[in-house]
Amino acid sequence: MKRIIQLIAIIMVLAAGQTANARTGVTYSPAESTFSLETNDDAQQVKLCIYNDGLDGKPVKTVNMKRAESVNGGALWQISVKEDLKGKFYTFNVKYDGEFRGECPGVWATAVGVNGKRGAIIDMAQTDPQGWAADTRPAIPAKDLIIYEMHHRDFSIDKSSRIEHKGKYLALTEKRAIDHLTDLGINAVHILPSFDYASVDETRLSQPQYNWGYDPVNYNVPEGGYSTDPYKPEVRISEFKQMVKALHEAGIKVILDVVYNHTWNIDGSNFQLTRPDYYYRKNADGSYSNGSGCGNETASEREGMRQFMIESVKYWVDEYHIDGFRFDLMGVHDIETMNAIRAALPSDIFIYGEGWSAGSCAYSGELAMKANISKMPGIAAFSDEMRDALRGPWDSDKRSAFLGAIRGHEESLKFGIVGAIQHPGVDYSKVNYSKAPYATEPTQMIAYVSCHDDMCLVDRLKASIKGIDTDALIRLDLLAQTVVMTSQGVPFMLSGEEMLRDKKGVHNSYESPDEINHLDWDNLQRYPQVMNYYKGLIAMRKAHPAFHMGNADMVRRNLDFIDTRDNFVAYHINGRNVPGETWGDIYVAFNSGKSARTIDVPPGKYTIVCYKTDCKPDGIAVYAVGNNKVTIPAQSAYIIHN
Ligand code: CA
Repeated sequence: MKRIIQLIAIIMVLAAGQTANARTGVTYSPAESTFSLETNDDAQQVKLCIYNDGLDGKPVKTVNMKRAESVNGGALWQISVKEDLKGKFYTFNVKYDGEFRGECPGVWATAVGVNGKRGAIIDMAQTDPQGWAADTRPAIPAKDLIIYEMHHRDFSIDKSSRIEHKGKYLALTEKRAIDHLTDLGINAVHILPSFDYASVDETRLSQPQYNWGYDPVNYNVPEGGYSTDPYKPEVRISEFKQMVKALHEAGIKVILDVVYNHTWNIDGSNFQLTRPDYYYRKNADGSYSNGSGCGNETASEREGMRQFMIESVKYWVDEYHIDGFRFDLMGVHDIETMNAIRAALPSDIFIYGEGWSAGSCAYSGELAMKANISKMPGIAAFSDEMRDALRGPWDSDKRSAFLGAIRGHEESLKFGIVGAIQHPGVDYSKVNYSKAPYATEPTQMIAYVSCHDDMCLVDRLKASIKGIDTDALIRLDLLAQTVVMTSQGVPFMLSGEEMLRDKKGVHNSYESPDEINHLDWDNLQRYPQVMNYYKGLIAMRKAHPAFHMGNADMVRRNLDFIDTRDNFVAYHINGRNVPGETWGDIYVAFNSGKSARTIDVPPGKYTIVCYKTDCKPDGIAVYAVGNNKVTIPAQSAYIIHN
């Protein structure tokens, strides 16, 4: 036994040693800068070039790096330059088979020049905004999160936003933005890719350019296009931190959308230029596998890639105080890597992802797919069951589902209501995709009806329900979000839904112009009932633990379905058994049918909190039920309690 413990201790020391080496790049001090880079074992030479400029000019210094040690089946190269290099830029160039592969900043640049072509040597401490040392992550447990998914440019670019720093990180430091988010009541923003990506040319930001940013270049540097000056390496870093600090001060967490599953390209990627073919999966015939649908897929199961991912997320937490991560196409990664990431991060860091891939992956082990979520405690996956049960299937914008009064989606809705856990009231054989519960705990399911992908809710309702008028559109929009915001899973909404946003019917707006993607803040005046309802709904959820118990057993014990009919689901929560809950019996009903329905409740006095286009946690009216029956209006959600 003692021997085993000793062995474990040795392994742990070895593992710790490896981790210490895992972040390469540059370490700066005024006396010297130390550069390091991981290559394949057969690298013949590594050249380090130092520049005065981030983009142009010839090197002012070129040095050969030294092979230091073996690491991750490859080699670690290092060199120290005993000068004060602050303000300079650098590239690595690795020689294989007698040929230099081309200059790049390596995979671990933490500061870069414009367009991320060259690494930058800066004093990171000088990028900290005032008070940064005192900045802390808001303490909000996973079960209490309400996530708002946003793109920097969508959110603030339109003049109606009246935000000064339009499309920039700094927008989220402005009172107008913060006030809107706190007024709505969300407590986490999920920002679309905000690491350095390729598809926006940072040298011509005076012209409108738009992209979601799922084309990673430098994983450990903020994107320059959202900064006020992408040429100055410190600016994007400092502004990003200012954004995080302002949101934290408002009690809002910051979740980063991370895209480790693929890179912008293979040939020119920092991965490929430094360790050719190491970071990517290949098919048996030698071609690159394309599980991402973007032309390549990374190999998280390889030690160097796994370490890279672990160290990268840790870095964002340490340096930028990030509160959570949304893994793009998480199903491309292996389970072991996702669990290692979970273990490496503090427990309050929220982790979720897309539990699917966009093509088949060249990996024979188990992938981090939705169906495997029970093997990844502390990690959540988006529920396409609930999403598609509400709006209609992902492969046809024209088809509707529950919202369009198409029957047969009730069990899928119930699957989402309980948070994808095992529950005796759900008939899993009738659920659209998963025929078994995938979550062990309800916080492992993301509840949503729309996100950046596919049509937003307004467009989808218009495309899938013929002749829908504005009143019906609003009724069904509110109904949909009530299902989301009362789910035992973690609710998630697309930015702008509270403004009844539309994208003019565009299905995939990843590079559509601002006029498609921007939020129209004037809609807050045009449709005040929408924002008011969302506010009430979110406030109700926050004030009532019954809607986010966060524990599967508690949900099974206290939530029971009382009625399931075509286009109709009703359930009861026994609030008395939920710690902290002030309501007793809570009745929730969703009626997407075109006529009113009734449910049976015990006689007594009830407070109505959600009725037609009103949701008020303090109550709309008190209602005495004498005949055991309450009426649920058409196309709406209904919530009462005693
Ligand atoms: Ca960029």
